[in-house]
Amino acid sequence: MKTENAWKKYTDKKEIFDFCGAYKEFMSRCKTERECIAEMINMARKAGYRDLDEITAQGIELKPGDKVYANNMGKTLAMYIVGQEPMEKGMRILGAHVDSPRLDLKQNPLYEDTELAMMDTHYYGGVKKYQWVTLPMALHGVVVKKDGEVVQVVIGEKEDDPVVGISDLLIHLSGKQMQKNAAEVVEGENLDVLVGSIPLTDEEKEPVKAQILELLKEQYGIEEEDFLSAELEVVPAGPAKDYGLDRSMIMAYGHDDRVCAYPSFMAMLAQDKVEYTSVCLLVDKEEIGSVGATGMQSRFFENTTAEVMNAAGQYSELSLRRALKNSMMLSSDVSAAFDPNYPEVMEKKNSAYLGHGITFNKYTGSRGKSGSNDANPEYIARLRKVMEENQVAFQTAELGKVDQGGGGTIAYILANYNMEVIDCGVAVLNMHSPWEIASKVDIYEAYKGYCAFLKEM
Ligand code: MN
Ligand code: MN
Repeated sequence: MKTENAWKKYTDKKEIFDFCGAYKEFMSRCKTERECIAEMINMARKAGYRDLDEITAQGIELKPGDKVYANNMGKTLAMYIVGQEPMEKGMRILGAHVDSPRLDLKQNPLYEDTELAMMDTHYYGGVKKYQWVTLPMALHGVVVKKDGEVVQVVIGEKEDDPVVGISDLLIHLSGKQMQKNAAEVVEGENLDVLVGSIPLTDEEKEPVKAQILELLKEQYGIEEEDFLSAELEVVPAGPAKDYGLDRSMIMAYGHDDRVCAYPSFMAMLAQDKVEYTSVCLLVDKEEIGSVGATGMQSRFFENTTAEVMNAAGQYSELSLRRALKNSMMLSSDVSAAFDPNYPEVMEKKNSAYLGHGITFNKYTGSRGKSGSNDANPEYIARLRKVMEENQVAFQTAELGKVDQGGGGTIAYILANYNMEVIDCGVAVLNMHSPWEIASKVDIYEAYKGYCAFLKEM
C-alpha cells in the first residue's frame, strides 16, 4: 500500500518546473479572490471562452465544443465546455475555492493613537493569529465610491512600494504574554495594522491620520467614508518563491486553495472537444462556510448550468436535475502534508506526503467524519483506474489522526445534487499560515489528474 515518490518518474523535470513557474507568477500577482477571478477570466477569454451573459443576450446557440464562462460578482467563476453528449447525461466538474485566510480591514478602519495611524482588521477564515505579526504585509482590494466607480488598490507588491504590518510585543516585556495559551497570545483586536507616522502640517486634530487620508485622496481619489464600501484585504507582501535548496517546493501566500484552483483551471484550458460537458467551478467564501452569493451554497452554479443548457437548446427543469444528478465531481482542496516536526498528529499509513502526487480523501470532517462527504467506493474505483491508466501519481489520506481535529470543504454541497463527489487536492505544509508550502511535482500531478478526469471519466 506504499506510494512512490513522484519525482522518480521524471528524468526530465522541465515540464514540472515550467508549469510551476507559471503558477508562481500567478500566485505573486493574484492574492485576493477578485484578483484570481479577473486574471482567470483574462486567460480564459484568450483561450476562446465567451461570456455567457453575452451569449444569452445575443441569443447565440451553443454547440458541442463551445466554451463559455460566467462571472459571479467578480468572485466566483464557472467555465463550461459543452460536451458531445447531451448535458443531462452529466458533467465532469472540477471545483476549488479561490478565497484564502487573511485580515480584512473593518468598515471604519482608520484611527490615530499616540501619533501613529492604524487600521483595524477582522480576520477572515481560521488563522493562528500569532503567525500574522511582524511580517511585511500588503493591501489588496477594491474601494467602491458612491458614484459606483471601483478603485483597485494594490500597495506593497512592487519593488519600491512601502509595506505595512502588525507589531508584536518585544520579548523583553513579554513575561505575561508568554504565559498565555497560543490562542490568546495575539488577540483578534490586536491585529491592527500600522500605516503611518508623519503629522500633517497645521492640522491640530489627529494630524497623522489626516496625512494618511490626504495621501489616499491624492493617490486613489478616495475619502474616509469610502472605506464603508470597500473590500480591502491585508495579505503577506511579496512574491511566491522556490522553496528548498533543490527548488522542489513553492512557498506562497494562498496555496489554500489556489494550488488546486490553478491546476483545475489549467486542465480546463487544456481541453478542446469533450464527450461529457466539462466544468471548472472556482468559488469564494469556502474559508467561512461557503456562505453568501459567491459561496458554494449559492444557487449560482445551478442557475448558470440552467442558462448553459438553455443556450444549448437542452434545458428543461428535469434535464437540469438529471445533468446535476448524473455528474461527477472532484472537489479539490488542500490536504495536510506529513510534517516531520509534528508527527504526533498524523497516522502514517493514512497521511499525505509531499511529493507523492495528488491526494484523494474519501472523507474529511471531524469527530466521526461529521460534516463530511464520504465518497462511494464504486466512484473511487473508477478514479483509481483512470489515474493509473494515465500514469498520474496519487495517494490517499485523511486530515490527521482520528479526533485530532478536522476540516470541511465544498464537497458535501455538490453532493446534495446526488452526484458522485470526492475530495482531492494538493498536500501543503503550514496550512492557513501566511506562507504555505507545496511540492511542485504534486501540483503537476494534480494538473495531470484533472486533465485525465475531464477526458476519461
Ligand atoms: Mn481550502
Ligand atoms: Mn482552508
